Amino acid sequence: MKIQIENLNKQYSNGVHALVNVSLTINKGMFGLLGPNGAGKSSLMRTLATLQDADSGTAMLDEMDLLNKKDEVRKVLGYLPQEFGVYPRTSAVDLLEYLAVMKGFSNRSERKEMVNHLLNKVNLFEHRKKAVSSYSGGMRQRFGIAQCLIGNPKLVIVDEPTAGLDPGERNRFYNILSEIGENIILILSTHIVQDVRELCTQMAIMDKGKVLFSGNTDDALVQIRGKVWERKVNKSELPQFQNDYKIISNKLVGGKPLIHAFSDVELGNGFVKAEENLEDVFFAKLNELV
Ligand code: ADP
Repeated sequence: MKIQIENLNKQYSNGVHALVNVSLTINKGMFGLLGPNGAGKSSLMRTLATLQDADSGTAMLDEMDLLNKKDEVRKVLGYLPQEFGVYPRTSAVDLLEYLAVMKGFSNRSERKEMVNHLLNKVNLFEHRKKAVSSYSGGMRQRFGIAQCLIGNPKLVIVDEPTAGLDPGERNRFYNILSEIGENIILILSTHIVQDVRELCTQMAIMDKGKVLFSGNTDDALVQIRGKVWERKVNKSELPQFQNDYKIISNKLVGGKPLIHAFSDVELGNGFVKAEENLEDVFFAKLNELV
């Protein structure tokens, strides 16, 4: 099972070119689509989820035309949008029941069994009778996953699902995603490198509508292996370092900036070789260093 996307383009009426010749192969398992805000991730997700049309290009799930066979696609698709909009005052169990009826589950006892199974899966069974509108952010996202999974989808798309979750909730959410991502295609769009690092073996990096990298997470790291150098600097020295070196990132460690710089050759001047990480790949790609 795989998705093959070829030369997808989308330009909005305001002139923004949100997808520029996007081509990707997405295999079974968890696929992380990483990019900063505005990169075009949601545009791509919405297109694959049959919610908006591309201007040109193709996207196939095996033999199924994802762009033109919308009814067929919706039968095998689970989608968790970035914004759910209004959260109803209905209880989680009633809402899942309702959504299952809408998806064509007409047998009452089978439906009930499935809904209970899903509530257990996302650890919401004991809260099933509470209104979804009263849920915390993490519980809402877990509810969102439960509704995605009605009808055993082959393709699940989740758009920025961990934004705004605290670390505990994020971990719970990761565990649920990694469990369901084993036997289906699960596409996770995110601007959070940690999401991809923890969950995905395949990934793509997008910016300004273009795919800057796609492949295995390990292959992404190979591109910068041995070329990342780090040192701590004083805050006042930061502008000078930014001027003199190809800085990939800087973050505060113990109140002092720790900078990562990119270089094919040893840098000296107090820099030591850093263990490269996905964050380095992400910023090196965005800054067009590799
Ligand atoms: P991401 O999900 O990576 O944040 P989006 O796909 O939401 O990116 O947006 C990509 C670009 O397209 C942004 O510049 C955004 O402002 C623009 N955009 C998104 N949706 C629309 C729309 N409906 N109309 C006009 N511009 C849009």
